[in-house]
Amino acid sequence: TCATQLRRHRRQSTNWNSDHYMEIVQYQHPALRWKSKSIAHINTKLTTIIREMFDLMYEAKGIGLAANQVALPFRFFIINVTGDAQLKEEEHVFINPEISDRKGSAEAEEGCLSMPELYGDVRRAEQITVDAFDLEGHGFQMELDDMPARVVQHETDHLDGILFPDRMSESARREIDSRLSDFTSLFRQQQRLGKYASEDEIEQQLREIEQEFA
Ligand code: ZN
Repeated sequence: TCATQLRRHRRQSTNWNSDHYMEIVQYQHPALRWKSKSIAHINTKLTTIIREMFDLMYEAKGIGLAANQVALPFRFFIINVTGDAQLKEEEHVFINPEISDRKGSAEAEEGCLSMPELYGDVRRAEQITVDAFDLEGHGFQMELDDMPARVVQHETDHLDGILFPDRMSESARREIDSRLSDFTSLFRQQQRLGKYASEDEIEQQLREIEQEFA
């Protein structure tokens, strides 16, 4: 396991408004293509954000949610592979995750809360080892296989701005291209209607928010 420990800060910083409205953003919101930087410290604000993310995830009937998907440029994700909000012991937070020891290969269907109702077969390692920090700032290591291994690989990809269609075969990907274009058109339309800012403005916001836990 990791010997290091992240510092926990109780201090509230003021440069970012924690009343920030949180929602799951859809393709192709620029946050989904953001390569997030590591979190250097944990504070109570992060704990609050994570609780809210679990609620959003359950509401959307998901089993994993990465910070990028709520337009936050932080390197963490949450999972509960049962999707059951009652099973708190199945809730895991992975801060600054690093995957190693990938073994085997398996193909299975994936979906993503940022691309509702879109599914595709993705080939991934069957077994992985993942090192990360929990909300207490303690390093931990997990050896995972099957579905949990897949979820952790999918969510870790999000932190690098990689989405599951990027991992699909060329031919399978072509079959869902028009669906992706529909998502893009819808997002552009919402930008025109003022629900979302321009690409440049969103990227500027992400850079500012990133400083919060840097
Ligand atoms: Zn996803």
